[in-house]
Amino acid sequence: MKLKDILNVFEEQAPFSLQESYDNSGIQYGNPEQEVKKGLACIDITEAVVEEAVKKGCDLIISHHPLIFKGMKSLDGSHYTHRALIKAIKNDICLVSVHTNLDSVLTGVNEKLAKKMGLENLEILDKRKGLLKKLVVFCPTDHGEAVRNAIFEAGAGQIGEYDCCSFNLEGKGSFKAGDNSNPFVGGKGEVHFENEVRIETILPGYLQGRVIKAMIDAHPYEEVAYDLYSLDNVFGKTGMGMIGYLPREMEETAFLAMLRDNLGSDGIRHSPFTGKTIRKVALCGGSGSFLRDKAMASGADAFVTADVKFHEFFDVEGVLLMADVGHYESEQFTKEILYEIVTKKFTNFALLISDQNTNPVRYFK
Ligand SMILES: [Zn+2]
Repeated sequence: MKLKDILNVFEEQAPFSLQESYDNSGIQYGNPEQEVKKGLACIDITEAVVEEAVKKGCDLIISHHPLIFKGMKSLDGSHYTHRALIKAIKNDICLVSVHTNLDSVLTGVNEKLAKKMGLENLEILDKRKGLLKKLVVFCPTDHGEAVRNAIFEAGAGQIGEYDCCSFNLEGKGSFKAGDNSNPFVGGKGEVHFENEVRIETILPGYLQGRVIKAMIDAHPYEEVAYDLYSLDNVFGKTGMGMIGYLPREMEETAFLAMLRDNLGSDGIRHSPFTGKTIRKVALCGGSGSFLRDKAMASGADAFVTADVKFHEFFDVEGVLLMADVGHYESEQFTKEILYEIVTKKFTNFALLISDQNTNPVRYFK
C-alpha cells in the first residue's frame, strides 16, 4: 500500500481542506508514493511513540496532533518534537496527522467523545457556513439522467438525510460551432437549438474537483456549459463541537462522576453548580472554550470541553455547567477513530493502536 492510499481514506472521511487555518494536518514526513506496510495510531508523536513504532516494525505513524505545528527553523534536537522527528527520519517512518479536519466532521473526534458519554441524537454545535456550492449544468435532455447519476455518484445532491437531490427544468439551448470545433449536434457555422435540461444541485466545496470531473466525463458536449455558485447556507455535516442528549436526565454531581469514570478524568474543573438537572449536553474535544457562547445559546444544560481559562468559568453565569475534563482525556479515543477509518477500508493493512499515554498533565492528589 502507498502512503497516498492512507491519505485518500482520510480525505474521504474528513477532507484535509476542512482543517483550521492554524493547523498543519497531513503529511509531516514521507512521500505519498512511498510504500507503507504497518502503522501505529496515536494522539501525540513523542519520542516514546516513535520508539514503540520502531520496536513494533511500523513504517507509518498516524497521529491526531501534528508533530510539526508552528514550523521549525532548525532540527537541533533541543525540543522533544525535534528529537521525535529526527528519530522517525532515521528509521524511515512516515508521519501523518489528522487533526482539526477530524474535529470538524460529524463522524469524528466529537462523535466519539459524545458516544463515550452515552449521548444520543447528535448534531454539530457550530455548523460551518460558506462550504456549500450550487452547481447548474445544461445538457441534452436525453443525456440528463446519465449526467445526474454521475454527479450524484461523485457526492453532489445530498441534503440532510436525502440524496439525489436536484431540480430539472427543460428548455432550449443555442450555440454556433466554430471552425475548429467538433460539435456533438448541429453543424459548424450555423446557430443550432437543442432541447436541453438545466440540472441544479448542491455539493460541499471539497468535492468540487471530483464532481466537475464526473460531470464533464458523462456529458456528451465538447464544451460543457455549467455554473458554480458559492452559497451562504450552513452545512450540517461539518463544523465545530457537538450537541447531544443523555438518555435520562442526571443530577449535576452524577453527571460529573460519569465524566470522571467514562473519560478517566482525574481532576475535572467545573463552573458552579446551576441546580438544574442535565439532559442536553454540548461538547468539544480539546481546547473548545471558544464555543461557550454557542453552547449557552443552544440551550444545553452542560458544556464539556478542555483548556478552560479562569475568567471563562465566570462567563457561563449559571446558564449551564461547564466542565473541563482535560485535553488528553477528551481526545484519547481519537486513536480508535484513526484505527476504525483505516481498517474499515483496508482489511489487509496492519494498523496498531499505540499503548503510550502521551498526556503530559499529571494531577497531584
Ligand atoms: Zn487536541
